[in-house]
Amino acid sequence: MNNKLTISEIFYSIQGESSYAGFPCVFIRLSGCNLRCSYCDADYTWQDGDKKSIDTVLDIIDNYPCELVEVTGGEPLFQKSCIELLSQLIRRNKTVLLESNGSFSIEDVPSEAVAILDVKCPDSGSKNSFHPDNVGIIKERITRIPNSCELKFVLSTRQDYVYAVDFIKRNNFFNMLPILFSPVQKGLTADTLAHWIMEDGLNVRLQLQLHTILWPNISRGV
Ligand code: SF4
Repeated sequence: MNNKLTISEIFYSIQGESSYAGFPCVFIRLSGCNLRCSYCDADYTWQDGDKKSIDTVLDIIDNYPCELVEVTGGEPLFQKSCIELLSQLIRRNKTVLLESNGSFSIEDVPSEAVAILDVKCPDSGSKNSFHPDNVGIIKERITRIPNSCELKFVLSTRQDYVYAVDFIKRNNFFNMLPILFSPVQKGLTADTLAHWIMEDGLNVRLQLQLHTILWPNISRGV
């Protein structure tokens, strides 16, 4: 319980992504990441951060009038105490989202948390980082608890789109869980991606980052 985490920021905002987009949400952004994606908009998390005990983090969270909490990064599972944080939040009856880059096994992530996992595409520069065990773990989790996992693809090019569709088909993920397709900021236009999705009739959700629409000139704390 006294384990410490290195925290980049804790803030209260509107959830901008996932099936929970639009809901008020408290974000706990942990420092550090094992990847270096080309489009990273949270590179400040790679270095900075303050050490805080899990008790202190929970006390801060309790001050917000909100039951939805997302643990993000950086890469949150880069810090082992993240699992303890998730468990403690669940014990406090929070609805807990974990946003991970998918490169760590989610075997120890509590089933009550919703795991939103990135699958990195070629233009991210982090292709093939998805932990191979996660395919089986996701299938087992969503069989026990439907909607306990979501998959997210950030797409920069047509090459990324083709890669994403192939990954989903190869692993039989269509119609099994929520799948989110996001155009990379300042890259692929949402309009182009929307047309590709409609042409192929894909059962995926086109996702625009709601917080960047609400607060276009603010890059941290939203
Ligand atoms: S996984 Fe996320 S935080 Fe890490 S480099 Fe990629 S985009 Fe940035």
